[in-house]
Amino acid sequence: MTSAHGLPHWNLDGFFPEGKIDIYQALKVLEERFVKFGQVRKSLEGHEPLPAADFLKFLDQLEEIHREAQLLAGYASLNFAQDTSDQKVQSLMFKVDSVMAELENEVLFFSLWWKDLPDEQAAPLLEAAPRHRYMLTRERDLKKHTLTEAEEKIINLKDLTGCDFLTRLYDTITNAYLYRAEFLPPDQKRDLTREELMNYVRHHRPEYRAGAYQELYRVYGQAQATLGQIYQSLTQDWYYEEVVLRHHASPIASRNKQNDLKDETVESLLRVCQQKAPEVFGRYFKVKAQRLGIPTLRRYDIYAPLKPATKTYTFDQALKEVDQAFRAFDSEFADLALRVSKSNRLSALISPGKQSGAFCSSTIPGETPWVLMNYQGHQHDLFTLAHELGHAVHSLLASNLSLFEFHSALPMAETASTFGEMLLTEHFRKNCDQSDIESLSFSLLDDAYATVGRQAFFSLFELEAHEMTNQGATVDELSKAYSQNLQKQFGDSVLVAPEFCHEWASIPHFFHTPFYVYAYAFGQLLVYSLWNLYQNEGPSFVPKMKAILAKGGSASPEEILRQANLGPLDDHFWLGGFKVIESFIPKD
Ligand SMILES: [Zn+2]
Repeated sequence: MTSAHGLPHWNLDGFFPEGKIDIYQALKVLEERFVKFGQVRKSLEGHEPLPAADFLKFLDQLEEIHREAQLLAGYASLNFAQDTSDQKVQSLMFKVDSVMAELENEVLFFSLWWKDLPDEQAAPLLEAAPRHRYMLTRERDLKKHTLTEAEEKIINLKDLTGCDFLTRLYDTITNAYLYRAEFLPPDQKRDLTREELMNYVRHHRPEYRAGAYQELYRVYGQAQATLGQIYQSLTQDWYYEEVVLRHHASPIASRNKQNDLKDETVESLLRVCQQKAPEVFGRYFKVKAQRLGIPTLRRYDIYAPLKPATKTYTFDQALKEVDQAFRAFDSEFADLALRVSKSNRLSALISPGKQSGAFCSSTIPGETPWVLMNYQGHQHDLFTLAHELGHAVHSLLASNLSLFEFHSALPMAETASTFGEMLLTEHFRKNCDQSDIESLSFSLLDDAYATVGRQAFFSLFELEAHEMTNQGATVDELSKAYSQNLQKQFGDSVLVAPEFCHEWASIPHFFHTPFYVYAYAFGQLLVYSLWNLYQNEGPSFVPKMKAILAKGGSASPEEILRQANLGPLDDHFWLGGFKVIESFIPKD
């Protein structure tokens, strides 16, 4: 499907192989299936050890139920993403969420039984189920953070109207914001979406960049009290559940456990970023100020283009550039990426109510993923496309895994996507004039800053904010702490205007998924190291990279890297990533 502007829009009618379905009816059938799965409980409660064949059969049933659930939930959320203001879809989303919560409750007994099984009974079953080994082992590892079945059920149900509702409320409030383009000439003034507004932070005119940020934080500043209270509640909910009830050592330890990363690994990542990011990016910001012909970079200017970005690309051109970039690496890599658009699973148009930003949604192994973006034709959009298609390649390479081990843990989830961006950078560097190459290095460094330096300092703020909130800090105190965080991050290399103290309230990840963002820094530094290997090893690196991606989420990140002869993930490893970043900084 292609819109009037030549931008593709996905065809959700083709979501299910059987064509259009009655989703409410399908949800009912799903409910019946998982309620029926409840009968398995009787087999488990017998005193005999469970035969391996039964265990495998139950796992198959469970996987099948989850496949169906993933498909229905995926379908609902894609409908929601294409128009978040559609009330019918909003109520479908609510229905889906509650069916999913019920599902988890109904089948919970199985994982609780598995976690409680004595080692000598679990060992032969584990041996018999190599396809689910990692998931099964992980579950038993997480046992000490699991509550009783009744408690888990209460949490699942109360979350629906508790923290799940709060994050939805945050989305509803902030997605409805419109921004006034006071900084534009009178004949161009109109209300902008956040997506459109943020486009101006990459504009060549300094006053537009400043105007866009000032408007963004005017709006978030006004809403600070409301959004701040939502944040405080979510943060406290996190603390009560993860630390008090589930006995994680700290708020971030719970995320580390979910990511299957050692606390020391994450501490090492953040320690190195805290030391190196201000120095390395500070040096870059000084060079950038020089090139822009200004004494000191303002925070407004961080994403300023080196020269006015005049070149735009039709969507077809964008797809072609990304295809060539991927194909230079590996033809299978490129073919898998192309599959998304060929099967009408890519929405690039901009329309009212459409979710901002971009994502790649992979429902079940073997299914071609769905990609959403808001395409405006700038070079930046090509990198977004390469990023999301990289995700799709990752999923498709991991097609053979079980559903339970298909999705990578957060820290590895960005490996293929950021690698895809590196491939596009390389493609442009090889195919553009010498004069454009410096500008490309600058945009790579801009991205490196946005992904490594910025996200690491976000994480440092989150660590502080969670601690402060639990000690009763006010919303204003959080904003003050955020300003200090920016001060440490930028030192004397960047001038930060006071309204940036409101920035933290505009970061959805802080609300949706606490401590999510360090995974970006992790993933990006990891990719720089992989990139370095690719440059040194050439084509023989390709199968290694694909082997890493094909592992999906079937081992811990540390294990996946170890098997590829990478790591350990200590300070030295992360410093290697910074060396690659430094190599892109032009000499004075
Ligand atoms: Zn991504």
